[in-house]
Amino acid sequence: MNKNSSNIMALTPNTSNKRETVCIFGTGDFGRALGHKMIQCGYPVVYGSRSTHISNLIPKDAEVLSHAEAAQKAAIIIIAIQRQHYNFLTPLAEILHGKVLVDISNNLKLNQYPESNAEYLAQLLPGSRVVKAFNTVSAWALQSGTLDASRQVFVCGDDVEAKQMVMNIVRALGLTPLDKGSLLAAQEIENYPLQLFPMWKFPIFLSLGLTAFFFFYCLALDVIYTYIYEKNNFSFFIAITIPNRVCPVMALILLALVYLPGIFAAIIQLYRGTKYRRFPDWLDKWMLCRKQLGLIALAFASLHVVFSLVTPMRAFASWRTSKGIISQALNNKTEPLNNTNAWISDCYLALGILGFFLFVLLGITSLPSVSNNVNWREFRFVQSKLGYLALIFCTAHTLVYGGKWFLSPSAYKWYLPNIYMLSLVIPCAVLVVKFVLIFPCVDKPLTQIRQGWERNPKHSE
Ligand code: NAP
Repeated sequence: MNKNSSNIMALTPNTSNKRETVCIFGTGDFGRALGHKMIQCGYPVVYGSRSTHISNLIPKDAEVLSHAEAAQKAAIIIIAIQRQHYNFLTPLAEILHGKVLVDISNNLKLNQYPESNAEYLAQLLPGSRVVKAFNTVSAWALQSGTLDASRQVFVCGDDVEAKQMVMNIVRALGLTPLDKGSLLAAQEIENYPLQLFPMWKFPIFLSLGLTAFFFFYCLALDVIYTYIYEKNNFSFFIAITIPNRVCPVMALILLALVYLPGIFAAIIQLYRGTKYRRFPDWLDKWMLCRKQLGLIALAFASLHVVFSLVTPMRAFASWRTSKGIISQALNNKTEPLNNTNAWISDCYLALGILGFFLFVLLGITSLPSVSNNVNWREFRFVQSKLGYLALIFCTAHTLVYGGKWFLSPSAYKWYLPNIYMLSLVIPCAVLVVKFVLIFPCVDKPLTQIRQGWERNPKHSE
């Protein structure tokens, strides 16, 4: 089911051949690109410019007039001019009265002005009907026709009819209008193109920090320690061995961090006895970037798979194998197959394969094209139930591999635990608390709270 279906208008272009003239103020990059696209789609375009000289950059079939003359020719005027020049519009207030003014401007910084550019324009020209649109589409994309980046055009405005007229144009250009409501939404729409992966910042910084920590941890224990105490130069571990230790550890920890905020939220709700109080900001933010954390975890898991697959090709691996064979030959003794070890290694691999399969499934269902086609319950089933199953498989995969080190004193180089032990702390804690939370005596009150029941109603806000 499409969750945005109520907002996103159909992509069917207006089939009517007769289009109304559109006026564009400003013959700069954006004005020209938009005018070009409009002419292609059958709109007569007239430019309002400070200079009526027609340069060869202006689309061929467009007229260029003074602002006042051009405005009189159209009911819709697109203001393709930077906000700081809007003052020149004030003397045109009478001509622009009742006209639909489309503000397409962006700023250089987030929240650069106290009010949005569109609201500012509406204050300057109170008799005009201001609509915000097109600011998230780039001139380059319009001109080159490469609209793969985003076909969505956010539209907002206080005048419903004016907004509808603009949305018709958006649709006619083969784009998808997304009604964001009144002009109050303009600030948010203006901030949108200035944001750089807003939901990815925390997951990326966290992943970089943890990766660096685990990398140097392994470097110290596997390369430096071995060099100092065993006189072995294993510096080449930096290329594959250490990354192949860090990647699974990161994948497991990040996957656990996807589920940890849900655990905190449940504990907070149980403690407060109500769901009607806001979570702390840090928890809200953490919950909002769970998808990104999960996708980064999937990337680490995929790298771990690739690193593991190339292991038999490594010189170190063939040296170790031949060393074992030569030592058996020299001692004239064939080591029998250790059945326990064979079981452990097969279980370890099987758990890893199952965990990775579920991991990929989680990644696929988080794609908007897939998540839009499943209902909320199905989405929750995959992300929550199968997600926990993936966490169980991946934790078990690590436990089977690294469990033997827990009791071995040789694993504690410089009294530090092995990286696999560290990686198990958060996932095991998440799984244990989750296990407690699904006990009926805990789950029942939690479900009631989530359905709106309050232990002490006076606490609700
Ligand atoms: P631009 O190339 O600098 O063009 C701006 C145009 O504004 C000029 O060509 C000029 O047109 C007019 N102008 C300049 N100073 C003026 C003044 N003092 N008084 C009246 N008109 C003046 O800028 P642009 O890239 O086209 O951007 C225009 C607007 O579109 C900006 O608000 C920008 O944020 C927004 N936008 C741009 C893009 C993009 O990809 N470029 C994407 C989304 C939104 P005349 O010489 O014809 O008068």
